[in-house]
Amino acid sequence: MKKMALHWKILIGMLLGIIFGFIMTGVTGGKEFVGDWINPFGTIFVKLLKLIAIPLILASLIKGISDLKDISKFRNIGLRTIVTYILTTVIAISIGLVLVNLAQPGDGISEETVAKLSETYAENSGVTSKIQEAGKDRGPLQFLVEMVPDNAFKAFSDNGLMLQVIFFTILFGISMLLIGEKAAKPLKDLFDSLNDVVLKMVDLIMLSAPVAVFALLAQVVVTADDPEILKRLLYYAGVVVTGLLLMICFYMLLVAFIAKKNPLWFLKQISPAQLLAFSTSSSAATLPVTMERVEEHIGVDKEVSSFVLPVGATINMDGTSLYQAVAAVFIMQVLWPEGLIFSNQLTIVLTALLASIGSAAVPGAGMVMLVIVLEAVGFPAEMMPIALALIFAVDRPLDMCRTVVNVTGDATVSMLVAKSVGKLGEPKPKDWDDHYEEVK
Ligand code: ASP
Repeated sequence: MKKMALHWKILIGMLLGIIFGFIMTGVTGGKEFVGDWINPFGTIFVKLLKLIAIPLILASLIKGISDLKDISKFRNIGLRTIVTYILTTVIAISIGLVLVNLAQPGDGISEETVAKLSETYAENSGVTSKIQEAGKDRGPLQFLVEMVPDNAFKAFSDNGLMLQVIFFTILFGISMLLIGEKAAKPLKDLFDSLNDVVLKMVDLIMLSAPVAVFALLAQVVVTADDPEILKRLLYYAGVVVTGLLLMICFYMLLVAFIAKKNPLWFLKQISPAQLLAFSTSSSAATLPVTMERVEEHIGVDKEVSSFVLPVGATINMDGTSLYQAVAAVFIMQVLWPEGLIFSNQLTIVLTALLASIGSAAVPGAGMVMLVIVLEAVGFPAEMMPIALALIFAVDRPLDMCRTVVNVTGDATVSMLVAKSVGKLGEPKPKDWDDHYEEVK
């Protein structure tokens, strides 16, 4: 019998998880049951993915750089990557701004709804902690300072310090190139082999993905907010989702016309990563799977993917920046219409771009950065808790959707950069049991 494709298995797991979650919401003690007995399996899966993120970046980036024959190639890839990331993000923000100005979702929100939402959420710890987190004092070049580690092992021990790991690894890889092929060979062999091992770990962990997404989605459903509140924000959420779908269409055009590949084939290959992005709301947790799909199933050479994807997971968040543009204008439409002037919309483009670079690739990060975007346009500080309360109820489902776009954007850009430097080859998928017979 032909094996069922992974994305179907994951999709079935997700659907069953949603159905199970709804059933459990109706049962007394159901929410606690899911929290105590189902959710841990989702948490374990996310931990497993995060567990291999740093070793994977380390092995894959060192292998990628040390395979290069000269450093100028690396400069070339780096420059193309950053420029493409900035361009796609600006396009995402522009799509968001155009949509929210056309659709005016803020018009449909009555004062009574605002009052109800602020009553429910303004004091909520989720909202207040986000404002506090955004309030940390930061100079304009702080992100550069934070990118440089002062202790490599400390950086390796914290997934939140991914850019520091990338910085160290690039320096290490370039130094390996500079000591010459012969002297670097033992290290190169070590990291080549480490890279294969970690990718095999991804295959093994993914065997449990269908069960894990069941658990993750059941938990999302049982902890979801009151459907009545969600309904009131449906129009706003619809604008964000429409923007995100347009962004996916835009990527498909890029794949078809620039990478010259069938966009549906691309979506099929990348779909397990998209489904995980949706289930985990974290591009960082999804990174190992994105890398495996892009390298083995799409055919992007490691020289490109090993740099473009980890960097993208942290700095390229098209879905998040589109969401920030829509959310910021929506909040202004409801609470501060006098602030809706053209120059403020331009400020949103710039700050949402910077905010998407600065957002951590974890659930809910986009909302923290939204505070910074709002501050930049001069939004009154005393209204900030109400502003966040307004959109808090739908933040989680929108986070799931924008993370899919973040991950798809990274994969698309890696394909474009690979194509432009002649590094887009044939896919070579590997299975977890390729060598199983030998060791059985
Ligand atoms: N959850 C998103 C990500 O990890 C970031 C955000 O928009 O909150 O990509």
